[in-house]
Amino acid sequence: MSIVVLTEKSSQIDPYAKALGTPKKKQGSVWVHSALLNADVQFVAASGHLFKLDGPEDYNDAWRDRSNYEQLPMVPQKFKARIKDARARASFNRIKQAITAADEVILATDPDQQGEVIGREILQRIPGGMEKCQRRLLNSSLTAKGALRSFENLVPMAKQEHLGAAGFLQNRLNWLIGMNLSRVGGIQLKKRGYYFPVAAGTVKTPTLALVVANDQEIKHFKEAPYWQIELTDQANQQRFKAQPSRHFSIEDEAKQALAQVTDTLTIKSVDQVEQHRLPPKLFNLTALQGYAAKKWGYSGTEVLETMEHLYKDLAITSYPRTESTVIEDAEFDYLKANFNDYAATLNLKMAMQVPDARPEFVKTTTDGHPALIPTDKVADLSQLTERERRCYGAVVKRTLLMFAGDCVLDKTVVKGTLGTEQIYEATGQQFKDLGWTEFDVVKTENRELPSYQQGQQVKIETSLVEGKTKVPQRITEGMLFSKLFPKYNLGTPATRAGIVSELIEKNHYIEVKGKRRELYPTSEGINMVAFWQGTLLTDLKLAKSWQDIFDKVIQGNMQPDRYQEQMVEALTDIVADYRTKKPDLPIAPKPHTSYEFKPLTPAVKCPKCHRGELGLLVATNAKNNQFYACSQKKCHFSLPNKYSGIALTSELVRQLATKKQTDWLPEVKSSQGKVYRNQVAFILAEKLKLQWTFKQTAKKTERTD
Ligand SMILES: [Zn+2]
Repeated sequence: MSIVVLTEKSSQIDPYAKALGTPKKKQGSVWVHSALLNADVQFVAASGHLFKLDGPEDYNDAWRDRSNYEQLPMVPQKFKARIKDARARASFNRIKQAITAADEVILATDPDQQGEVIGREILQRIPGGMEKCQRRLLNSSLTAKGALRSFENLVPMAKQEHLGAAGFLQNRLNWLIGMNLSRVGGIQLKKRGYYFPVAAGTVKTPTLALVVANDQEIKHFKEAPYWQIELTDQANQQRFKAQPSRHFSIEDEAKQALAQVTDTLTIKSVDQVEQHRLPPKLFNLTALQGYAAKKWGYSGTEVLETMEHLYKDLAITSYPRTESTVIEDAEFDYLKANFNDYAATLNLKMAMQVPDARPEFVKTTTDGHPALIPTDKVADLSQLTERERRCYGAVVKRTLLMFAGDCVLDKTVVKGTLGTEQIYEATGQQFKDLGWTEFDVVKTENRELPSYQQGQQVKIETSLVEGKTKVPQRITEGMLFSKLFPKYNLGTPATRAGIVSELIEKNHYIEVKGKRRELYPTSEGINMVAFWQGTLLTDLKLAKSWQDIFDKVIQGNMQPDRYQEQMVEALTDIVADYRTKKPDLPIAPKPHTSYEFKPLTPAVKCPKCHRGELGLLVATNAKNNQFYACSQKKCHFSLPNKYSGIALTSELVRQLATKKQTDWLPEVKSSQGKVYRNQVAFILAEKLKLQWTFKQTAKKTERTD
């Protein structure tokens, strides 16, 4: 009997093989004889998605024309996918050969939506593939012990049918929305003189809408004064605040209210409760992205890339694209065993206070990955870059806090009235056990209260305090990850960072400013949201309701085809609306600059593509706007016509293109006024970047000066 285990990526082979027995290499594959499965087991791996959906032009020649509104919406009768590239083809052929020769297949891709798709799209294309595969491994554990338990509890493939169908559906929806609405926007905006690239998506556009709305709120904010009544206990200067707080926006109203209150506060209740605060939850990707953005100003993509590296290449942290904040017993056991090593590597003097698994952190789950935690391989921090060290340190420390005690405090709330309905309140707190807060940056100040008794009459002073309304906080990248994405159910941990970086770097709809990574919409971003106003792309409630229905598909309570039909209907309505709809766009189009290309003579070959020729691009309707470029439109090679105040003549460009360096320049003046004669040249450095270079001898004389 021979069984093939198909994993999502090659890094899963090693722990899975070790879970089943002693791995051996045979003809480039890993094999194990498994007593549990009573078979010789061969491991093969995909490398994520091996297939991608065809583009519009592959379905229909007419769909090639991006400027034809009449053919929208484009809805393929049946979606087709093709192999992604040569590497994917090689992977597929290897998998196909193994599966064809095997008696049975166990699907062991990641236990999530896209994991189902990755496995099923391969199996469906291998004759007999689906029939041979009746059992599914759902494993989220990092240890051989945990993986073995998952192998002991294989589930029928049919049980995962709905999740797989939802994954395939999600990919088709992204295609339908993305392809069609990008064209709707592109065509209609071009007619109105806008030439920026249009991109639309069910997560991307709502995210942009949040950033634009926040920007509008800040721009239109007007500071306004307000008044509050404040009470102070005369005997001991203890203050009482109205609860719920009451703000008067008109001073006279505040004064009238103040005139009605008496100078005696009657204490209605004194309550003291002991509070236990648990250590913070373990990190999932989104929470770590929020934490790192706030603390160090890292982008979501930077954090994701770092964690991918720590996971894939160094194997010191768990699978990064996780939504979970809990782990399983097997992980808890090795984390506990390694506690001292983790603490030592972080140089943290910490003893284990709670050795038991608490249900808030440790659960038995079969869906998805564990929270972000270290693996049992303890890292050598000196081998890590600063960013890796910080992210790794944050994950390890958060994990260690799980073994710390609760923070315990007594909280006292004193409530009183002044004869009106309004309640006034004073609160105090007394920490009894700092617990985990001793190792984390958390405020733990005691606030002492004077002792009050129920029914006590307290002489008070009343005063009117003026405050000013505060401008709303600008959304930062960290806030998107820690608050807004979860709040509006937008995207998944696997996709969020990619969407944010596309909005910033690819579409240029959002700009990032400052170390806090504050988000500012560009004029294109503002226009984009105005353009889609009133559709499911910008209405967050509507977007959420679509997501809620999608959840029914995942649970198997709705046919994917029916959902797709409804989405196509909505899409068709949008296409029909926008045929004539002309939404108000707040920002006028930029004047469209046209350029004339003047090739250099004699001809100079482009140093980048080696196909085109270099020439000067001169703007026909803007003054002093010219630069060098390649005649091949898609090449994008360019050089300025001036660099640090020195004119780049066509002769210098010719020298750069042919030798990557110009002759030594007769005379160059530095910004400090120093004159260099025959000591400086332009070079095309790495990635053909224009830079200065100094003659080596010149540098030496400079030092001896
Ligand atoms: Zn070129």
